[in-house]
Amino acid sequence: METIKRRSWAEPFKIKSVEPLRMTTREERELTIKEAGFNTFLLKSRDVYIDLLTDSGTNAMSDFQWAGMMLGDEAYAGSENYYHLEDKVKEFYGYTHLVPTHQGRGAENLISQILIKPGQYVPGNMYFTTTRLHQELAGGKFVDVIIDEAHDPIAEHPFKGNVDLQKFENLINKVGAEKIAYITIGATVNMAGGQPISMENLRAVYQLASKNKIKVVFDATRAMENAFFIKKREKAYENKTIKEILLEMCSYSDAATMSGKKDLLVNIGGFLAMNDYEIFEEARNMVVVYEGLHTYGGLAGRDMEAMARGIEEACQFNHLQARIGQVEYVGNRLIELGVPIVRPIGGHAIFLDAKQFYPQLEQLNFPAQTLAAELYLDSGIRAMERGIVSAGRNKETGDHYYPKLELVRLTFPRRVYTQAHCDVTVESVFEVWQNRKNVKGLKMIYEPKYLRFFQARFEKL
Ligand SMILES: *Cc1c(COP(=O)(O)O)cnc(C)c1O
Repeated sequence: METIKRRSWAEPFKIKSVEPLRMTTREERELTIKEAGFNTFLLKSRDVYIDLLTDSGTNAMSDFQWAGMMLGDEAYAGSENYYHLEDKVKEFYGYTHLVPTHQGRGAENLISQILIKPGQYVPGNMYFTTTRLHQELAGGKFVDVIIDEAHDPIAEHPFKGNVDLQKFENLINKVGAEKIAYITIGATVNMAGGQPISMENLRAVYQLASKNKIKVVFDATRAMENAFFIKKREKAYENKTIKEILLEMCSYSDAATMSGKKDLLVNIGGFLAMNDYEIFEEARNMVVVYEGLHTYGGLAGRDMEAMARGIEEACQFNHLQARIGQVEYVGNRLIELGVPIVRPIGGHAIFLDAKQFYPQLEQLNFPAQTLAAELYLDSGIRAMERGIVSAGRNKETGDHYYPKLELVRLTFPRRVYTQAHCDVTVESVFEVWQNRKNVKGLKMIYEPKYLRFFQARFEKL
């Protein structure tokens, strides 16, 4: 008798509304990428076929969230939607106080200015672009304390986002706890390839930090996706719900910054949350300067409602299984075809190892930037550089940071693309891999002062 292996999951939704895609020819793309200075951030969306630039704010909202948009209470002060959001943050993340912000970096700005005194250190499990920049603007100095495996694209560690406790302790011993503003803990560490941190490590970091009276600020942007990995990979948690795991994760921190544009299935929104009333008072006061009154923080009432509803949907196991399953599907197919990607496959994206695509290029010929441009030329698929351009320059020496990894990120928006789109993506990446030999690099011809990867321009060598 014939047997088939049954799929273990499928998307837990069906499609009610569609958005047409535009396809272009190679000739058209030769022009558009040149006009965009070989920077995929500068392409017009209408010239892109499958957009894997980012999973930030590119999520498809549910009918329930869209219905919530009509229930926006657009009062300047005390919007109903703020109180709904506050309830959901308390219920799912466990923090007592909420300050909404227009997106994650708004929250990062507030917490950095409140907690960092100039000259203090801010350790973290690898940097994130906006997080580190706000820390530096507040006078802080970022120190990477992630485990070494995170910098190795093929190390098969199940929790490559873990903090190296020894590195953290060495820093405390070297500079003194009072010189450390706080430690930032990222979940499914973006810059390491979407790699999770374990509950055991979160607990240990919190214990070590608390013992030294150092606060833990949790970047909860991707914490639900991290909770899924904990359930899958950490024995003690296999029978716990995502909600239970998330609450425990957050309990090992004093405050959280959040970009709702990722986990929370919305197009805009974020928040700062904390338990400490004094920090809350300060943040609530400061948010008025930068974002808006403390009950809207730069968001419309309807945006807060969509985010409140998104929290509940995002925390469903079936949603996370399909979301992370889609990324794994693409990653496993690329591995079968011999394309070099960061292992293990992360939560939100596939990271192509550009150094292995183009061993003929120096790091200053921008291998990852080149690969992203080649992929766009091949098929109109838009990806993003995560290498030397993203890493930026050291503020003190003015020199480039030279990251160990030169990666191109294919980031999957939540609930947006189908399996056929995934197949087309795999085919195009494979084509670019096969044509890798004669590719020449790029030269930077314009460099902005802050977060240069967004607006830098390049020319073909
Ligand atoms: C996107 C992101 C941020 C910044 O959030 P924005 O909403 O883009 O300002 C911070 N941390 C992580 C891990 C992110 O992925």
